[in-house]
Amino acid sequence: MRDDIWLKEKLEKIWELLFPEIPKGNNVHVKFKGKSLRRFGCIKSKGKDSLIEINSLFKDERVPEYVIDTTLAHELVHYMHGFHSPLPRKYQHPHKGGIVDKELIKRGFGYNLKLEKVWAKNQWEKLFKIIKI
Ligand SMILES: [Zn+2]
Repeated sequence: MRDDIWLKEKLEKIWELLFPEIPKGNNVHVKFKGKSLRRFGCIKSKGKDSLIEINSLFKDERVPEYVIDTTLAHELVHYMHGFHSPLPRKYQHPHKGGIVDKELIKRGFGYNLKLEKVWAKNQWEKLFKIIKI
């Protein structure tokens, strides 16, 4: 079952695998929240902690796990770039010049990213209409 504990374990695995040298400078919470067609995830500050929110509709098992993995990895790139994290801010704007995708590709996540983009373009809107959560 995809719940917040499952999500937390996934985040920790992705952190270890993809971002091993990135320090955890604070508590990073993760949970499913919101139902959105366009927003897959976001990262925000909550006091001194960071909070990553993942689209609740992704609890549905028909949403491939690589979509959730890619979304978590995307938010961790924001964290490592110093957005809503205690790490030094590396850029002015979180998405300018495709910096998130570039970082993911550099870290070997390009294939997942490609799968996610194809899914988002061809499958997601149809599925979005029929998910009941
Ligand atoms: Zn982003």
